[in-house]
Order: sequence, then structure tokens, then C-alpha cells
Amino acid sequence: MIGAIEAGGTKFVCAISDDSLTIQDRMTIPTTTPDETLGKVFAFFDQYELSAIGIGSFGPIGVNKESDSYGFVTTTPKTAWKNTDFLGRMKARYNIPIGWTTDVNAAALGELEAGAAKGLSSCVYLTVGTGIGGGAVVDGKPLEGFGHPEMGHVLVKLHPEDSFEGVCPYHGNCLEGLAAGPAIEKRYGDKAQNLSNREEVWTIQAYYIAQALMNYTLILSPEKIILGGGVMKQKQLFPLIRSAFKTLLNDYVETPDLESYITSPDLGDDAGITGSLILAMNELKK
Ligand code: ADP
Ligand code: ZN
Repeated sequence: MIGAIEAGGTKFVCAISDDSLTIQDRMTIPTTTPDETLGKVFAFFDQYELSAIGIGSFGPIGVNKESDSYGFVTTTPKTAWKNTDFLGRMKARYNIPIGWTTDVNAAALGELEAGAAKGLSSCVYLTVGTGIGGGAVVDGKPLEGFGHPEMGHVLVKLHPEDSFEGVCPYHGNCLEGLAAGPAIEKRYGDKAQNLSNREEVWTIQAYYIAQALMNYTLILSPEKIILGGGVMKQKQLFPLIRSAFKTLLNDYVETPDLESYITSPDLGDDAGITGSLILAMNELKK
């Protein structure tokens, strides 16, 4: 059996599966302190004889094996988790191979192996929720370098009709600062889910996301871009984003047909946990 954790800032999902990725047991718990949360994770995994574990974690996290911060959740705004040796504590408990990457890299891997990007060799996965985070898989491998991509914090230009200062504590009006759920809520004084009928909200939202997708396209040239997270439940966003993307890119580079290039996850909310299971299997093969 293999185990996986999709570790989010709000909740942890743990799952157990066999090689076919069929989930046989799962547990969802709120993310509180590392001691309390990991205590519950251990209690869950201890019930099984596991051969490997995969972890897709909220971050920022240390992914550079040469660095002292490898395996740590580092500068997260979630204070209880700042500088927590997450991977180290897992390894101390389970002496088995453990795969480790960001939650969004794991989601990208899940969608590539078993979801919307199945059969391709690369994709980008962007989540638009409480924050904005993006991961990528290139040639079947999660994209990491000195650190990991932080695609949610790219700079975008302001929509001519938007004067919002943004909510990112680091950059103000970066993409996350302008277009994550809390930014929408602060700008309009209501939660994004209550603004479905406000056309201008989604025109401006699509303008920001499209700019980011253009940048990802120009830099990575992925075969597909998958958009998940709570805010993307507003399905009217998809055609608006494709249309703004087409205008911005202005046919400068060729892309796949936009209907299939910019799409929602096939695995829905299970992209991250499925990718984390695949991460575990890949670790076993190493
Ligand atoms: P998280 O990012 O914390 O894992 P979500 O992806 O659900 O969780 O993101 C939560 C954010 O998404 C909130 O800001 C919320 O207002 C927004 N959101 C949740 N559901 C919807 C919806 N149906 N339509 C628009 N926005 C939504
Ligand atoms: Zn930022």
C-alpha cells in the first residue's frame, strides 16, 4: 500500500491506495498546529503497512536538497507552521521512501498522469482560492530549481477600471494580491461566491488571470493549463479568460486550441491527493 498527504493551509487530506491509484481509505482534518495535525496523520498511517508516502504541501517549502531548509515548510503566513521540519518528522516516523513537492506541483502531476493532461508530457496547474499557486510538470517531473515556482506572485498590470491596491503582504498588487478570493472579497465587500451576477467582477478577474497564463505560456510553453480552486468554480470565467488570453497574446505564438489548452481539472478536488499518491509511486521506482 502507498500513502499520500495533500497538505493545505486549511485542511490536510490523507489517503491510502494500491498501485492502481484507487483510494481505499481517506481522512480529512483541519490544519492546526504541527504537533496536533501530524499526530492525527501518524494515527491514520500507522494502521497500514506502507511502502512509500507522497506529500504535496502548502508552502513555501524547501525543495533544494543542498539546503538546510529541505523538507521544511518555511516562510508560510500560517505562523504555527513557520520553519517546521515536516518531511523530517515524517521520515523519523516512517523509514520508507517519501516523495516531497508543493501541493500545486502534486496537482499538476495528478492531472498529467490521471486527469485532464493524461497522455501529455507537460502541464501547468494553477489554483485560484485563498491564495494563488501554480505548479508545473515538465517531462513528467515536477518543476523545481533552487526553489519551487511561485506562479501566484507574478506581476500583472492593473485593469484600467481597477484601482484596488491589492492584498499581498509582500507585493501588494501581484496576481495573488489582485485576484485571489480574499482580494475579490476586499475589493467588492462580498465573497466571490456571492458575486456570480456581477459581470465587471469576472471581466477584471479574467484580465488578471489571462495575463498570468500568457506569461506561463511564454516561459514554459506547457501543453495544457489547468485552472482549479474555489474561485474557478465560477465557470463563466473560462470563456472570459480564453478570450482575454487570445487578445493579449495576439497570435504571437501558436498554442493548442484554447478550449482544450485552458481547462478545468478532470480530477476535481482530488488532483492534489492523486498527484501525491503518484509522487509516492515514483519515489518507489527510484
Ligand atoms: P483554499 O484555497 O483555502 O484551499 P478554496 O480553493 O476553496 O480553498 O478557496 C477559497 C476561496 O475561494 C475563498 O476566497 C472563497 O471566497 C472562494 N470561493 C469558494 N467557492 C467559490 C465559488 N463557488 N465561487 C467563487 N469563489 C469561491
Ligand atoms: Zn505577492
